[in-house]
Amino acid sequence: MEHKPGYLETQSDQLSRPALKILLASSEVAPFAKTGGLADVCAALPVALEALGHEVTVVMPAFRSALQCDRQVRKTDLQLSIPIKSQTLHAQVLCSSLPDSNVTLLLVDYPPYFDRQDLYRDERQDFPDNCERFTFFSRAVLQILSQLPGSIDILHCNDWQTGLIPAFLKLELNSESRFQSLASLFTIHNLAYQGLFSQHDMPVTGLDWQFFNWRQMEYYGKLNLLKTGIVFADGLNTVSPTYALEIQTPELGCGLDGLLRERGQVLQGILNGIDQRVWNPKTDPHLFCNYDSGNWEDGKAQGKAALQKAVGLPRAPRTLMIGIIGRLTTQKGWDMLTPVIERWARTREVQWVILGTGDPHFQRKLEDLGRNYPQKVAVRLEFSEASAHQIEAGSDLFLMPSHYEPCGLNQLYSLRYGTVPLVRQTGGLADTVVDATAETLATERANGFSFRAATTAALEETLDRASEIYQRQPDTWRQLVETGMAQDWSWERSASAYERLYKNLLSKQRHDSRIPT
Ligand code: ADP
Repeated sequence: MEHKPGYLETQSDQLSRPALKILLASSEVAPFAKTGGLADVCAALPVALEALGHEVTVVMPAFRSALQCDRQVRKTDLQLSIPIKSQTLHAQVLCSSLPDSNVTLLLVDYPPYFDRQDLYRDERQDFPDNCERFTFFSRAVLQILSQLPGSIDILHCNDWQTGLIPAFLKLELNSESRFQSLASLFTIHNLAYQGLFSQHDMPVTGLDWQFFNWRQMEYYGKLNLLKTGIVFADGLNTVSPTYALEIQTPELGCGLDGLLRERGQVLQGILNGIDQRVWNPKTDPHLFCNYDSGNWEDGKAQGKAALQKAVGLPRAPRTLMIGIIGRLTTQKGWDMLTPVIERWARTREVQWVILGTGDPHFQRKLEDLGRNYPQKVAVRLEFSEASAHQIEAGSDLFLMPSHYEPCGLNQLYSLRYGTVPLVRQTGGLADTVVDATAETLATERANGFSFRAATTAALEETLDRASEIYQRQPDTWRQLVETGMAQDWSWERSASAYERLYKNLLSKQRHDSRIPT
């Protein structure tokens, strides 16, 4: 197969620490295939790890979108033969690289499974062969691993689509010497999506029925691939420290809190970062006006005026403009938001700019709000990268009252763009936004507003507080903006935490490679 120059040469000579060899498996990697934050993480983390001197190879399915995006893809001479049910399926492996990096991306090419319009479902339902597709992908990752020259230290799996990989490693490959020094990490990006399948899919995995029990792969009579990954991986993490604790409680544990408590010793939270090449107000090509922490007042004022014009709201420089971007799901707090938007549009001098797609029930409510209050509420029911950047830059306040939030990216973009976030204290939102109180303002830690109770009353009370400061205390508002803009939410910081975790796992792995029972 073709490798980029120097791919196999360790860079440890250039650096004081030894380089790790990491294989990261994910169903989604931006810009090749994306339905959510998973794709952003699996695109940015490998590049940041490479910058720390490690050798990272990423493996994903050759989805139609991956082959149609503008990245160059070429063939390799890797050939795979994967047993699925009673057949052996043959697949090619293609090769590309992550943008602006030397990170190799390998794509498992099997058109009957992956050449489809969408990744996981058609307009009506999930694809009925999803278990088969991702069993195939998981086995392909391990075959690639066994054919790559040299040994790999870390196999980093992500979400349910790769949950079988740690099980195959422990149950089928444990005796092979090249796999014995390897440690697996399983990252949970959102515990609510578990890859649940009928028990009739158990034979598809090729694993013995003895593992279909409540301590390993079974979940209330179904096959659960996320649970499988949690049970068999050497290490576990999720994407913020608070979410790592919350998923061990019945409230946010999605039925897996007992297992997660049991595995609590090997579970930690590492915050995602933001891709500063894409989200930087100084260079962002989508913005009407670029700016940085030195001239944000002017830059944001121009961005606000241009945004008001673009979305058809009246030009009003001193009116609080509130931005919201995100999937239209209950997770994101739309049940709390829609009554508050309605009341504030009716009674207050504010403007709302809303961008989202999702649940038709929330789409209809938002359409009504836009129609009933055209001077106050602008609604865009679409997925638009450019609009997302323009709203982040042009708004004064950004709302994210999620019921739960594994990490959340939009509040981080807001901080970077000088748009004060107002969030619910949960998951990654609790770890990144410090509520403005007398104490946090005095110690210059405050960078936004937050509340705890998941009620419209709590949201409204906090919105009141924010609006009051915006209107009457411009110096305090300026302090909030500037504190947020000065903070470091880069991937470099997060990648160093992953590096430490990988090294811990490797040193533990040398002591313990038992099969969990
Ligand atoms: P989640 O992964 O739960 O959807 P995150 O905040 O972690 O939420 O990341 C969502 C990403 O998708 C962000 O980059 C956000 O800007 C983007 N996004 C969500 N909805 C839209 C939309 N309608 N248009 C453009 N970008 C969107």
